[in-house]
Amino acid sequence: MPLYTQESPNPSHQQAGLDVEQLLRRVPTGVFVGGIWRDSSDASTLAVENPATGRTLVDIASATARDGALALDAATAAARGWARTAPRTRAEILRRAFELLTERAEDFATLISLEMGKPLAQARGEVTYGAEFFRWFSEEAVRIDGRWAVAPDGRTRLLTMRQPVGPTLMITPWNFPLAMGTRKIGPAIAAGCTMVIKPASQTPLTMLALADLLREAGVPAGVLNVIPTKTSGAVMTPLITDPRLRKLTFTGSTPVGKNLIRQSADQVLRVSMELGGNAPFLVFDDADLDAAVDGAMLAKMRNMGEACTAANRFFVHESVATEFARLLADRMSKEVLGPGIDDGVTVGPLIDAKQRGKVAELVDDATSRGADIATGGTVVDGPGYFYTPTVLTNVQPGSAVLREEIFGPVAPIATFTNEDEAIARANDTEYGLAAYAYTSSTSRTIRVSEALDFGMIGINQGIISNAAAPFGGMKHSGFGREGGYEGIDEYVETKYVGIDPQVTAVTSR
Ligand code: NAP
Repeated sequence: MPLYTQESPNPSHQQAGLDVEQLLRRVPTGVFVGGIWRDSSDASTLAVENPATGRTLVDIASATARDGALALDAATAAARGWARTAPRTRAEILRRAFELLTERAEDFATLISLEMGKPLAQARGEVTYGAEFFRWFSEEAVRIDGRWAVAPDGRTRLLTMRQPVGPTLMITPWNFPLAMGTRKIGPAIAAGCTMVIKPASQTPLTMLALADLLREAGVPAGVLNVIPTKTSGAVMTPLITDPRLRKLTFTGSTPVGKNLIRQSADQVLRVSMELGGNAPFLVFDDADLDAAVDGAMLAKMRNMGEACTAANRFFVHESVATEFARLLADRMSKEVLGPGIDDGVTVGPLIDAKQRGKVAELVDDATSRGADIATGGTVVDGPGYFYTPTVLTNVQPGSAVLREEIFGPVAPIATFTNEDEAIARANDTEYGLAAYAYTSSTSRTIRVSEALDFGMIGINQGIISNAAAPFGGMKHSGFGREGGYEGIDEYVETKYVGIDPQVTAVTSR
């Protein structure tokens, strides 16, 4: 497998290195509170690492609980005025943000690749996807309506209105440093909510650059505040239990999400949870196998497998399993491993040593139970956290790799004999985020889509994320939807007014 190392860098990397230093100098390194960049209140800092080298990219301010309180002060002070702005004003700010992000796509893609590790081409894809939430919600901002109805008794008139829920805390993960933010910020701005954002401590640079872009796009002071921190629990808990906060939206792992749901109970907060996944990828005997392999590469290898929607378990009909595994192993073995910003690299490093260790353990557990390695299965020595793209065949029921979220470039393949068995095995997980199926039968498409207990299903396609679609899960994958017209619902309260038109005004007597 081709591998670029720090000892033999890709020549284009050195060229890119010049731009990188300039870019890193331009990224704000403070906390962003009330429209002002400032240092952390106790001057503490957080080192942001490049997972391809293990070296520090830059040190930034690490917010304290005091900074968190100041951010919520600012969001609370701005809330009423912001809620009253014209929807068209908010729409045009979002449109401007979409345009600026599109103009600066290369800078954002480079930052994402540097701090998160994904190949530059995929980082560009994240910028396009992330910007789309600004465009989509700029269009939705002017369509937040209510309804008018006559009550069944013919007397009361029912008027409903949808009003911004208020100051919102947004906690985002490291795997999509831009898009997991814009998917929340877009609808919050459209609805008229103010916000405090805590990006992941491993990838805060993209969000800091985005905050500056949103300021330039016209987001007023206090509406959007960003507080990266290396002490997440200590800074977030006082905010979640502060009565001024009205909503918590979280994207991250299921264990942390459960902890935050518990914390949010005291203030009966509105909560949205985008949590972990364990996506099945079903290949039926009537599937186009080449298309299924193309889809498998996308569903498995986007983000090196570090995606909540990543195909985690491949269930393939026994009559085509050998051929599917051969084709997939062939494609996986041709992937090019290296630092994401290098030309030609298709697989970057994993986020850190702990994540790579977990992936290696899952593979070891599977092989100790009888699985075979068709390709990969190796921790790569040297700087950075690389793991080779891996295909496992004959994976036995009970293997941890079929139960846990892998978050790495490993495709475990198991077989099934009929449709009922495939569905039962796919649903045999506490997660319910994404599922994929390849079949050429329309009736099977309908049966399988209805039977799978997942919030999002891709039929004959390996990517399902789309700003126009409602993104979200069931069961331990969480609740709430981001994107689509459903995305606005998470940021509004529905208020109902009952009016009796038969009560005459005093002045008209
Ligand atoms: P994570 O460890 O749960 O962290 C997510 C965020 O929560 C980070 O900002 C993290 O901050 C913060 N956090 C951690 N402990 C906290 C606490 N006690 N109080 C408040 N905040 C806390 O998840 P991750 O490793 O970053 O992301 C990977 C997970 O996200 C996977 O399970 C993946 O499936 C899931 N994910 C889900 C979706 C979806 O839409 N369903 C999308 C993307 C990712 P620190 O960085 O400081 O730890």
